[in-house]
Amino acid sequence: MLPTRSPGRCPHQPPCPPADSADREAAHPVAHRPEQGWTLLCNGVLLFDDTGELLPDGQAIAPHRPPVTAAALKAAP
Ligand SMILES: [Zn+2]
Repeated sequence: MLPTRSPGRCPHQPPCPPADSADREAAHPVAHRPEQGWTLLCNGVLLFDDTGELLPDGQAIAPHRPPVTAAALKAAP
């Protein structure tokens, strides 16, 4: 099954934050392509390994944090 980028169809409880929320990076990842350096979040946000983001409406967010390591991601709750 292919992941969709349609916001508003979150199956999670509690629902993931929407793409226009300041907390959008807390959404569940639904696709991860480490070889390409991105993660697709449940709310349609494309999160890059350098913390840059591409929102569902096409808006690009510049990287704003030091890169997160895979170990740090696994340690996150
Ligand atoms: Zn979700």
